[in-house]
Amino acid sequence: MPAHRKLTGPIVIATHNPGKLREMRELLAPFGIEAQAAGELGLAEPDETGKTFAANARIKATAAARATGKPAFADDSGLVVEALGGEPGIHSARWAGPDKDFRGAMNRIQTLLIERGAKEPAQRRAHFIAALCLAWPDGHLEEFEGRVDGVAVWPPRGDKGFGYDPLFLPDGFDRTFGEMSAEEKHGLPPLGKALSHRARAFIKLADACLR
Ligand code: IMP
Repeated sequence: MPAHRKLTGPIVIATHNPGKLREMRELLAPFGIEAQAAGELGLAEPDETGKTFAANARIKATAAARATGKPAFADDSGLVVEALGGEPGIHSARWAGPDKDFRGAMNRIQTLLIERGAKEPAQRRAHFIAALCLAWPDGHLEEFEGRVDGVAVWPPRGDKGFGYDPLFLPDGFDRTFGEMSAEEKHGLPPLGKALSHRARAFIKLADACLR
């Protein structure tokens, strides 16, 4: 297997999602990597035409690296509800619509789960997946994936985090992501537990490309 490429110098974070941007900046901060957001640079959002999280992360990172001539960092992530055949999955952002109505998207999940008679936690299994991609302007790619398992609870709880956080109760905890501090959700060891899908993928990326 070829050696991983180390990341030095400034990068572009290829996201227009403010919640993700905040988390990605927080993850990069301890490594002293300077990061500018695609939105701040006026970059267009490429169409996410991939069929997997990894494919979509690659599309976003590659487009930003080509447009800026700098290494770019992208995340593609979403909530996979097992009883819904994996939906919303790669369509997690789309389910919230152009108004980013995550209350509506969580209601839709609940309605579909109830239609399927899924009331017990065992029938409401869900996981978050994050695919991270670092792309260099010369085409080099580094790709990592992380996952966290839990249950889709109802009603949603908490007003922290973003997106589907209030719906998601990670295994082994009695508070949803929406009720957790940023440190608890995605803090890295030694202080944090790297609980979230994004933090778990990021640890792999950091070990390969940042340390
Ligand atoms: P995309 O990766 O930009 O296509 O969109 C991912 C979508 O998945 C986000 O808009 C959120 O709705 C959801 N999502 C991804 N990660 C998280 C998370 O950590 N908490 C809550 N929702 C998330």
